[in-house]
Amino acid sequence: MTEFLDAKTIFVLTGMFTGLITVVFFAIHRGVYAVVNGVLSFAWAYGFFTLFALLLLMRGLLHPLITVVLADTALCLAVLMIADGVSRLKNQAVQRGFYRWYLSFCLVAFIYFTFLNPSFSARVMVTIICTVGIFSWVLLMLWRQPIRTWRLGEWIFSMSLLVSVIAAILRALTALVESETAMAMSILSYQGTQANYLTINLLATVFIAFGLIVMTQDNLRRDLERLASYDALTGVLTRRVILDLLDKSMAKVSRTGQPLAVMMIDLDHFKRINDNFGHRVGDRVLTKVIDAVESVLRKDTYIGRYGGEEFLIVMPDTSLEQLLEVSERIRQMAAKTVVHFQQSTIQCTISIGALIIDATNIDSLTDPVTHADKALYQAKQQGRNQVVVAGTSPESSLLKTEST
Ligand code: GH3
Ligand code: MG
Ligand code: MG
Repeated sequence: MTEFLDAKTIFVLTGMFTGLITVVFFAIHRGVYAVVNGVLSFAWAYGFFTLFALLLLMRGLLHPLITVVLADTALCLAVLMIADGVSRLKNQAVQRGFYRWYLSFCLVAFIYFTFLNPSFSARVMVTIICTVGIFSWVLLMLWRQPIRTWRLGEWIFSMSLLVSVIAAILRALTALVESETAMAMSILSYQGTQANYLTINLLATVFIAFGLIVMTQDNLRRDLERLASYDALTGVLTRRVILDLLDKSMAKVSRTGQPLAVMMIDLDHFKRINDNFGHRVGDRVLTKVIDAVESVLRKDTYIGRYGGEEFLIVMPDTSLEQLLEVSERIRQMAAKTVVHFQQSTIQCTISIGALIIDATNIDSLTDPVTHADKALYQAKQQGRNQVVVAGTSPESSLLKTEST
């Protein structure tokens, strides 16, 4: 079979492409390092690929320690750094202990087969074993993740990796069948089928980078979505999201007439906890109380942080009786929650202002949060640790007061 590209051209192209990709990964890393892991490893991986191609092209010009041992080691490190980056990107443990063994193995093998017992085909075998071993391990790691979580990036990446592994295995088989002379004494004089495997490898290397870039972008998008939608401290929805859901739920009341319950929660005398025990302990109390509140909510209920220690709850399809029952359960649950700090046992009650939005008041109601706030204010006025359910207009003010 004739070759598509001669070996030298392939390595010039490899050097150019991987060099460019290295710069791209470094640039991406600078932009996303606070959010997405692994990109720096990809930059290193492609840097090693570039080094490999450049050193290879200098064979005969520089000492074999550099153009052979260092070049082949760079190739094996490039493969390792791809695995390292994918582990980090997928938040898997990085096997640092293994890296030292791997590097030692490569160096010893390449020095041995270059100076002590020179064998070109043995060196080729070592690089193929490293590539196939590491890439298969990465593929297994990806395949252990549910296929429905795969996006375009995972598909491009894993298919390119698979092509690369198959090409490496075929290259090894050809090398076993063909004699040492057919394999040529230098990779730069590869011809025919052997050169075509190199071309396939070059293309796979570029496609692997495409896959990794798409995977990185996808991770970034998912993480930013999460950061924008969930409160970092308590894990409930952010103000923007809960208010948006409230608007949508109100639109649904207009359409279907099904009643909607809205609650505003505020922790009682929370400032005292901060003042007495410090903000960190205050944070713990806040988190624990909200966890307790969440534990009694129905699955279809939304809870979000309105601001500071005030939380908004939106419960679709809820009658007044259900609202009274749930809000009372929430209040009791919060009051039961304790946080231990040094010798102290800290408890914090909550006050709740609530209202029902239904077909009778939806048209006159412009701002349900204000009404919930007024009911909350009333609960505070009446001594805290209680639920007040408001009427929907200021004059009719209160429908019912639950007190303890
Ligand atoms: P009450 O609501 O019962 O009238 O009294 P309060 O002491 O809770 O009143 P206020 O709403 O004025 O104080 C709320 C305090 O909550 C003030 C603020 O420092 C604190 N706070 C708000 N957000 C956080 C937070 O994320 N962590 C901590 N530790 N404190 C917070
Ligand atoms: Mg408060
Ligand atoms: Mg407050």
